[in-house]
Amino acid sequence: MQTKNGIVVMKFGGTSVQDSESITNVINIVKSNPLKKVVVVSAISKATTALENIARFAADKNTAEAEKLLSEIINRHHVIIDTLVTDSALKQVAAEKIISYEREITELVKGLSIINELSLRILDAFRVFGELMSSNVIYYSMKNSGLDVELIDSREIIKTNNDFSRAYPNFELSQLNADKKVKPLLDKKKIVLAQGFMGSTEEGISTTMGRESSDFSAAIYGSLVDADEIQIWTDVDGVLTCDPNVISNALKLSEISFKEMEELSNFGAKVLHKNSVKPALKKDIPIKILNSKNTSSTGTLVSSKLSYPEHVKSVTYKKNIIVLRVKPKESLNQFIFWEMMLNILSRHKPQIDILISSNNALIIVIAESAYTKIHYDELKNEFDEISDCEIVKDKVLITLVGSDLGTISNFEQSIFICNPGIKAESIIYGFNPHSFSLLVNSGECDKVLCNLHKQFFEGHTSDNGLFRKLNKNEEKSIA
Ligand code: ADP
Ligand code: ASP
Ligand code: MG
Repeated sequence: MQTKNGIVVMKFGGTSVQDSESITNVINIVKSNPLKKVVVVSAISKATTALENIARFAADKNTAEAEKLLSEIINRHHVIIDTLVTDSALKQVAAEKIISYEREITELVKGLSIINELSLRILDAFRVFGELMSSNVIYYSMKNSGLDVELIDSREIIKTNNDFSRAYPNFELSQLNADKKVKPLLDKKKIVLAQGFMGSTEEGISTTMGRESSDFSAAIYGSLVDADEIQIWTDVDGVLTCDPNVISNALKLSEISFKEMEELSNFGAKVLHKNSVKPALKKDIPIKILNSKNTSSTGTLVSSKLSYPEHVKSVTYKKNIIVLRVKPKESLNQFIFWEMMLNILSRHKPQIDILISSNNALIIVIAESAYTKIHYDELKNEFDEISDCEIVKDKVLITLVGSDLGTISNFEQSIFICNPGIKAESIIYGFNPHSFSLLVNSGECDKVLCNLHKQFFEGHTSDNGLFRKLNKNEEKSIA
């Protein structure tokens, strides 16, 4: 790797830090990189969901169930400390810290069971403990193994707005904090260990930036410290031609451009959080997707370079798609309708994926998120006031991502020829030439993905350097 500032950001996701064995891998990966490092960690796998459930049980006054879940998650952290932190003095402080976090969560549970109402702000207050606890056990494990590491609190660096559960960073304020608190540590060649996912408002109230957003945190840190590279260490060998949970013989991409990666994440590929590309693109910092369980794999390079134009790179999908078909009331002036519609949408804040307008009617495609539930009945009621509105649920948005898709010969024909009998409700070319989406019934998702994967990737694996079959070892790591 060519060095500019000699700094790398390394992010390790939930499965990469899930237990003692995984954390030992992390420590070895960190040790083997000679550059100055910011290490960003997620909560141990399933901890964030557990914390959300603890909050929900507490709000329902079911403190017994909340405490049971809490003790399970606390216990997993103690097991890691017991295994990895062999120095008795370090072991004691590490364990005490987890005990004090347990006390704080128990207090939150008590309070919430009294007020009985779970706001997004309180949910964030629970969620941050996942990363606080994981970074604590990783910190002491790293220290125990001789690494010169400093643990920082991301809430003191990454300042965000107060849109709890999906907060967005204020880069200017965060930059001031990073200059003051992160860069001096790097200058002293300390490994800086930070939590992903979380930040805080200017007033210091804990926020999170959306589920799976530790990738975004890594990109933010990359931008703040002007890193040479942002490494996302996960549980697959890189960006694949499809989600390996659906297509077991998906191929690994050697590279993909920022724009294509952004589109792939926007349209559902979980491998990189959708906000991660922007900060990297802005400063032209390459992102590498790597496998923490298979360090021999070269991963996928995400960068501004595009050596493979006119290629379909990957096919992705988003489930739980809701489609709103809206026809404005004839009595309403077009511009008044648009104003009222935008007011409704900004009140409910659904995540709009696609908005198509034709003949003064609208199709709004919304991805339902398990984490920020939208009240569709209320949304429809409000739309009914100004339009004839129909809500269709149970759709899936399937998207092919690549570059110059429109110039690939027979591109659109191939999609339909390989999917005989499939009825697509809408067909959408993206704003840029990187995506082509089909809206189909949920039940047809896997079949369409298989057909498209066969059509565009299987049998085209002559080694042109872009796609590579996974070897046996790699296959095991995605099993
Ligand atoms: P982490 O916990 O490390 O953040 P995630 O589970 O969030 O990891 O993301 C990695 C997962 O993304 C993979 O295990 C895989 O199941 C899924 N995935 C979906 N689409 C793709 C794709 N196109 N390429 C690679 N992985 C994908
Ligand atoms: N721990 C958070 C989550 O599970 C953030 C992340 O892992 O990226 O959503
Ligand atoms: Mg993730």
